[in-house]
Amino acid sequence: MKIYNTMTRKKEDFVPIDESEIRMYVCGPTVYNYIHIGNARPAVVFDTFRRYLEYKGKKVKYIQNFTDVDDKIINKSREEGVSAKEISEKYIAEYFKDADALNLERATVHPKVTENMDEIIRFVKVLVDKGYAYESEGDVYYSTRKFGGYGKLSGQNIEELEAGARVAVGESKRDPLDFALWKAQKSEDEPAWDSPWGPGRPGWHIECSAMSNKYLGETIDIHAGGQDLAFPHHENEIAQSEAYTGKPFAHYWMHNAYITIDNEKMSKSKGNFFTVRDILKEYTGEEIRFFLLSGHYRSPINFSRDLMIQSRNALARMHHAEENLRHLKQHGEGEMTEKERSLWENISSFRGRFEEAMEDDLNTADAISAVFELIREVNTAVRDGASGEFAGKCLDLLKELTGILGILSDGGSEEDGISEEIKALVEERQEARKAKNFARADEIRDILREKGLAVEDTPQGPKIVKL
Ligand SMILES: [Zn+2]
Repeated sequence: MKIYNTMTRKKEDFVPIDESEIRMYVCGPTVYNYIHIGNARPAVVFDTFRRYLEYKGKKVKYIQNFTDVDDKIINKSREEGVSAKEISEKYIAEYFKDADALNLERATVHPKVTENMDEIIRFVKVLVDKGYAYESEGDVYYSTRKFGGYGKLSGQNIEELEAGARVAVGESKRDPLDFALWKAQKSEDEPAWDSPWGPGRPGWHIECSAMSNKYLGETIDIHAGGQDLAFPHHENEIAQSEAYTGKPFAHYWMHNAYITIDNEKMSKSKGNFFTVRDILKEYTGEEIRFFLLSGHYRSPINFSRDLMIQSRNALARMHHAEENLRHLKQHGEGEMTEKERSLWENISSFRGRFEEAMEDDLNTADAISAVFELIREVNTAVRDGASGEFAGKCLDLLKELTGILGILSDGGSEEDGISEEIKALVEERQEARKAKNFARADEIRDILREKGLAVEDTPQGPKIVKL
C-alpha cells in the first residue's frame, strides 16, 4: 500500500514497524461544542483507512484523544455558569452520538487529558531536565531553537517562522518562537493541577506527545489529522516527542485537506459554519460519510447542497442494488448456472479494482467508482433473475467492499427488520390475491402503508420496501 507522507512530500510504500500491530494516532476534537463538518472529515477518512487495514487482516491500535482541558472549554463554562468538566463531558457524549451517526468505529482508546495528567507532567519535567524547556513565572515553555529539526514537517525554516512569531499578552517566554507546555493558573475558576511549577494546566500540544507515548510507544507508524494541524500542532508534537525520546516520532504523517462551504472557507463570522448535528437534520450520517469519501482525502472538498443530493442519489442506487440482491438471494432458486460462473469471474475482479484504488494513497473516490462499476455489472447480470447462490455471492462482495467504506452497513436489509406480523400480513395478501379477494388485498396494502411499508410484486414474489 502506498500512502502520501507529509514529512517526505511523496507517496511511499507503507511498511509497518511491527506487522502484527499497526500503531496509529489521530488528533481528536477539543470538546467544547458539537463537532463541525471540518472535524468530521479526518474522523471519517482515517476510520476508513483503519477499516481497510483491518480488512487486509491487520490489527490496528488506533488512538484518538479528547482535548478536555482548553481555554475554549473554560470560556464556555464561564458563559454557561457550569464547571469545565460538565462542558467537556457533555460534548464527549455528543461526540459519540455524531460518531455513531457517521458510523465511526470506536478508537482502541479515547484518552483524555484530565485522565493522563501524571504522564503529561512527567513528560514536561523530562523536557525541562534535558534542557529543551524552561520554567518562567509558573509557566513552562519549549525552547524551539534547541530542537534542530524544527519546521521539517511543514517545510519552514526558523527565519521564516521568526517573522510570524509573537509573544501574547500574559506570556513570559524568552523567545517568540517558544510555545507553552504548561500554563500557570491565572484565576481561581480555572481548572488546575499541582505540578513542580505550581498549579496550572498543560498546553495543547504536549497532550498528544504524552498520550501517544503512553499508549503507542516511542515511535509509531502513523500520525494523522487535518492539514491545519500540521503547523504548529504537529510540528510542536515532533519537537516534544523527539527531544524526549531521541527517536523518530512517527514514520508516516497523513493530513487531509480542508472543507469549503459553497466554495468559501468555513467560518463562524460568515455564517457558514455547520456542525454535524445541524447537517444531520437534513441528511443521514451515511450520506455525510459518503460525501466525505467521494473525494480524495488530500483534495479540498466543497460542501454544498448539490453535492449532498448527489451523494444521496448515489447511495440510493447502492441501497437499491443491495435490496435487489437480497431479495434474489432469498427467493432465487439453487446454485450458480454455467453462465453465472463465468459472469462471477468478471464481477469478482472488481475487488481487485477496489483494492488497487484504496492502496493508492486511500483513493476512496476511485474505490467508490469501482463499486458502481460492480453494481452496473451485477444489475445487468441479474436483470432476468438469478440463482440464489449467485445473488448471495454478489451481495456478499458488495457488502464487503461498502463495509470498508463504512456505508451500507446499517444491517442493511429492509426485509431483515420486518416483523413476523408483517410477514404474515404479506402472506395473507398473497393468498387473498390468489383467491381474487382484492378487497382484502387492498386492505392489507393500506395497513402496511400506515406502517410505512409497501409491497412490490416481482417475478420472485412480493418484496417489502420501506416508504
Ligand atoms: Zn494532536
